[in-house]
Amino acid sequence: MNVRVRFAPSPTGFLHIGGARTALFNWLYARHTGGVFVLRIEDTDAARNTQEAVDVILNGLRWLGLDWDEGPLTGATDGPFRGQAGPYFQSQRKDVYRQRVTELMNKGMAYETDGTVRFRMTREPVKIPDLVVGEVIRELNDDEQKDPDFIIVRSDGQPVFHLVNVVDDLEMGITHVIRGEDHLSNTAKHIALFRAFGAEPPQYAHIPLILNQDGSKMSKRDKGASLMTYRDEGYVPEAVVNFLYLLGWSPKDNREILPLTDVIERFDLPQILRHNARFDLTKLQWMNGEYIRGVSAERYVELGVQALQNNGMDLSRFPAPYIRAALLTCREKIKFFTELNDWAEFYFLDVIALEGAAPFTQETKAHLSQLKSKLLDLSDFHADAIGAAFKSLSAELGVKTGALVHPVRLACTGKTIGPSLYHLMEVLGKKTVAARMDHALEKLG
Ligand code: GLU
Repeated sequence: MNVRVRFAPSPTGFLHIGGARTALFNWLYARHTGGVFVLRIEDTDAARNTQEAVDVILNGLRWLGLDWDEGPLTGATDGPFRGQAGPYFQSQRKDVYRQRVTELMNKGMAYETDGTVRFRMTREPVKIPDLVVGEVIRELNDDEQKDPDFIIVRSDGQPVFHLVNVVDDLEMGITHVIRGEDHLSNTAKHIALFRAFGAEPPQYAHIPLILNQDGSKMSKRDKGASLMTYRDEGYVPEAVVNFLYLLGWSPKDNREILPLTDVIERFDLPQILRHNARFDLTKLQWMNGEYIRGVSAERYVELGVQALQNNGMDLSRFPAPYIRAALLTCREKIKFFTELNDWAEFYFLDVIALEGAAPFTQETKAHLSQLKSKLLDLSDFHADAIGAAFKSLSAELGVKTGALVHPVRLACTGKTIGPSLYHLMEVLGKKTVAARMDHALEKLG
């Protein structure tokens, strides 16, 4: 079978972490099977339907790296969506829904009443075969017994979610509907609609919900519920993806850090765990640190530059190799890219502010001057050679290396902590280091 799956979010202006996981599971299944991943924006609710709300979804998926395969071309000739297909927008497919409603009315499966169109729902129990939940039999409850039919077109002419969702899954040839368990209660209606169109329903896989650490249901306001907070708080998208596939799926070998390629190879629907997944922020934070150190240097630098630019830093006047070397000295230090600003800012300042620092003693001044001339004499300004100069001078002077390290760090960075001193000096280069030492001697002398 040629697998075709879809992610069908409604643009609410918010991409919930559970929605992101639904998208990921669909994407993984498509990539695992060599199938097609369709993105369909369910935007029939005109009141909420804004470009910003759609962008939240598109940017979220792009940030996670979940590319979709199909749809009308966006027509964008530049920008992030240049040449890219899709997504489908339900708001552009009204004719399709109108025709399908007419079809149901012609078949006697739908009828008009009080300005609305209602679907003639089956009175029989509906069997829902589900690849995750198992088989569910949905029987009509007492209220529904009296009147099981439901509205598919409202009196204002708007087609209702159940109808458009099913029509699109049918028209788009969707073979597997992978979605949150909150939609299980809609599925009997959907199956009945498929049958009314004379079609076999797709296979269903309803994924258990994501709960807070304490077991309560995760709502919009809960910490960590919005995907975009992870981008804004300096997470590595690959770490978030890794965290998300373990929320409800398991490789069954206790590994936590799993490369995406392994997961694509192994991911399958029956392995989705039946119980609700608990959201463990501490684990995600740990994972993020692992990814910061684990991704390639190129990727690390790319994400670091993005974070600094998002923070308003202008890096355009610095050469790429300098930026790269500077950011790499901070790699072991940070757990989130948002910390990078504090760790790396001194690399990109013309003048180091020393306000508030205690003045140097006469001794420190003398030592720094001697150190400076030793450093200027180095033909090879590399961390090892710099370190050796510190050691030999401190031995000569009979002081601890720390007595030199602290004032030099202050002079070069304006701070008392930061990346490894000899490495950061190497990156700054001999000229800048000497200039910063002079500046400090002048200000604090
Ligand atoms: N628009 C629905 C939602 O966001 C889609 C449900 C489905 O995947 O079928 O919940």
